Amino acid sequence: MKAIINGKIILDDQILTGQVLLYNETIEKIIPDTFFSANSADLVIDAEGKYVSAGFINLHIHGCHGFDAMDDTPEALDTIREGMAQSGVTAFLPTTMTYDFPTIYRSFDQIRAAMGKKMGAKILGCHVEGPFISEVYKGAQSSKYIITPDFSYLEPYKDIIKIVTIAPEKLVDDTFMKECKKNHIVVSMGHSSATYEEAMAAIAAGVGQVTHLFNGLQPLHHRRPSVVGAALDTAVTCEIIADNVHVHPAMQRLVYKIKGKDQLILITDSMRACMLPDGESELGGQVVIVKDQIATLRDGTIAGSVLTMNEAIRRFWLNTGVPLQDVIRLATINPAKELMIYDKMGSIAVGKEANLTFFDDNIFISQTIVEGHVVYQKD
Ligand SMILES: [Zn+2]
Repeated sequence: MKAIINGKIILDDQILTGQVLLYNETIEKIIPDTFFSANSADLVIDAEGKYVSAGFINLHIHGCHGFDAMDDTPEALDTIREGMAQSGVTAFLPTTMTYDFPTIYRSFDQIRAAMGKKMGAKILGCHVEGPFISEVYKGAQSSKYIITPDFSYLEPYKDIIKIVTIAPEKLVDDTFMKECKKNHIVVSMGHSSATYEEAMAAIAAGVGQVTHLFNGLQPLHHRRPSVVGAALDTAVTCEIIADNVHVHPAMQRLVYKIKGKDQLILITDSMRACMLPDGESELGGQVVIVKDQIATLRDGTIAGSVLTMNEAIRRFWLNTGVPLQDVIRLATINPAKELMIYDKMGSIAVGKEANLTFFDDNIFISQTIVEGHVVYQKD
């Protein structure tokens, strides 16, 4: 049995002190520190007063440290999962973009092979962001390979696909939605020009999520509420990029007032330039310029972010002023529930995987543990 002492343990709705967290590959027990004897443990980690939370889960991330999930090399995912661990993420969905399917399939093959490896953060499967999107709201995705939603393209990889982003106005019949439901794939609306009415119909048909709320969607207009209006008017879960570039702090506060602590998920949507200095980079085959840690295409379109999950938490916490445990929830409990794996991870509870993250008041990550094994330790 291993033990973590002197931590501020973040549970669903409270932060515990004076307790010891006991774990192996799963969480075994939380006991008062007065009941704990160091001799009884194989390993004692002193958290030195830092927070200890369930590991963060990132449902939408393209890359970091110079690599992208679509680079057709095992080194890419190996490097990205190390980067995830450094930012407190213990499980994630590498996210593919709009490309031709032979290229996307090579990326799926790399993801499937990487899922079996034990290193860094866990790869839970993938998020397919494109090519089933809108030409009008493609954002930083290339329009060349955009097509109508067609499940037959996903069929050979349905075991690893966990989320697919679509523009629901492009659905031709109900086959796509039915197949996704049958295969437990979350359908997320994004990069879409859908009207409020189209978005409400999509939610009624089973769309359960909105991809990076506000970005890649028609702006909220009081007479044309669009997908954003539908997202705020229903209980659908929303991804949000809390880097203060993609979504203004005031909008983060407003959204939290409406969606609360259960319907928002922090994502990074980060690209290969994440965790690197400013300079020229690439996303979805297009040149991206990173200046002052803001990533744009040459024409000024905001490209993916260079945000890390711990920084997203820090900013959202500062922007909203809500209790820390409620912000952590947006990066742990909510994404785990979205993927229907909350019985295995997403919170510190007996029997769940010992996926843990240590950080201070600035949300600087000092240590990350996956299934009981330290995968990152700050020097
Ligand atoms: Zn993305």
